[in-house]
Amino acid sequence: MAAAAAKTLQKISRKLLLAKVGSSGSSICKAHSLAALSETHEMLRKTCRDFADNELAPIAGQLDKEHRFPKEQVKMMGDLGLMAILVPESYGGAGLDAMSYALAMEEISRGCASTGTILSAHISLYLAPIMTYGNEEQKQKYVTPFVDGSRVGCFGLSEPGNGSDAGAASTTAHLDGDHWVLNGTKAWITNGFESEAAVVFATTDKNLKHKGISAFIVPKPIEGLSLGKKEDKLGIRATSTTYLIFEECRIPKENLLGEPGFGFKIAMTTLDAGRIGIAAQGVGIAQAALDCALDYSAKREAFGAPINKMQMVQAKLADMEVKVQSSRLLTWQAAAFKDAGLNFTKEAAMAKLAASEAATYNAHQAIQILGGMGYVTDMPAERHYRDARITEIYEGTSEIQRLVIAGQLLKEFAQKA
Ligand SMILES: Cc1cc2nc3c(=O)[nH]c(=O)nc-3n(C[C@H](O)[C@H](O)[C@H](O)COP(=O)(O)OP(=O)(O)OC[C@H]3O[C@@H](n4cnc5c(N)ncnc54)[C@H](O)[C@@H]3O)c2cc1C
Repeated sequence: MAAAAAKTLQKISRKLLLAKVGSSGSSICKAHSLAALSETHEMLRKTCRDFADNELAPIAGQLDKEHRFPKEQVKMMGDLGLMAILVPESYGGAGLDAMSYALAMEEISRGCASTGTILSAHISLYLAPIMTYGNEEQKQKYVTPFVDGSRVGCFGLSEPGNGSDAGAASTTAHLDGDHWVLNGTKAWITNGFESEAAVVFATTDKNLKHKGISAFIVPKPIEGLSLGKKEDKLGIRATSTTYLIFEECRIPKENLLGEPGFGFKIAMTTLDAGRIGIAAQGVGIAQAALDCALDYSAKREAFGAPINKMQMVQAKLADMEVKVQSSRLLTWQAAAFKDAGLNFTKEAAMAKLAASEAATYNAHQAIQILGGMGYVTDMPAERHYRDARITEIYEGTSEIQRLVIAGQLLKEFAQKA
């Protein structure tokens, strides 16, 4: 199946490229024509949906129970081209667009939210900043060997003392001859245990505050870097989350990513784009919760009829469908803005906010519709409920998304006035 699907993905990649080259009209028009997906995006969506249905959904509960990283499935996603969906073909990736990434993230997360998290941390947080800000040598060394699912990367921005306030980084880096020396602790690092390299942020000039933060590529394992305990989490339990602890960790001078002092900008632009992936993950979880509720409510009988005949259950199903569809459209809008080269900061934040709240809402309602069966691990509803919650926290909490949206909105208002 993997070889056939990989061929499909290659075909999709070429078709998308041709569609882009052959398309006409302004980028703004393109960003607004979201009525339907193109044939090529539909093909990709089906490929990812089949993979999720066949390879992920059947084992997601077990992975969650065992807190087990889905190594084999990650490799299969690599063989399909999904682990480097945004990386150009010249570096070994699938060379697809942000819309493709959003579609893949939704379907994979619908099958298994943990696998969605692993995919998004690798693509949005590790590969993307290196592709955007890295030099040729860094791309050859830290992107190309990471495209086929045999290796994953991670991203170290948060610290025990600061998450939302990322500019307050206390991890430091100083030059000593041909090496940067890193000291400090990064917290909550997804893929922390499995990753073979990390994009890490550290202060190189404290006086400049956030303008004194720089980004580095750290190969793993490396002397001077140790890992903390594996966090015991509420959800996405098949992912590993841990501390990266740097003690006089020496990395080659050439592993600086971008210019010195560009780290905060790299982090913020990385998170902007990453939010499209988390929004898509929220849509996937919201859809999975709705699918589960639809299926159960058709089979479960009460008072002599399937419970889906009851209007109060129907009202819940209707509200859940509205949440899925509206957050999916916002996600597609954000992806279309990015693909059209427009500023998508507000769109990505709106999509993440709406989709993560949709995931939490739908998972809550799914449990209600399943009654007692919603509360036990025999059914996936309780897992969706636990998995949904993280989408409101990582890559910027819902409060931070509201601040970003309001900030952009006020800027637009001031420009019009
Ligand atoms: C499972 C998991 C995986 C993660 N993966 C990664 C990763 O791979 N890499 C990484 O770098 N980080 C990762 N994170 C960290 C994550 O991004 C942070 O937890 C998140 O940004 C929030 O930071 P915090 O936990 O320090 O909360 P805080 O910043 O302390 O916020 C606590 C509360 O205060 C609110 N708050 C803070 N500031 C404001 C404000 N200005 N206005 C209004 N409310 C505010 C927040 O919204 C929140 O409700 C992960 C976290 C988890 C739980």
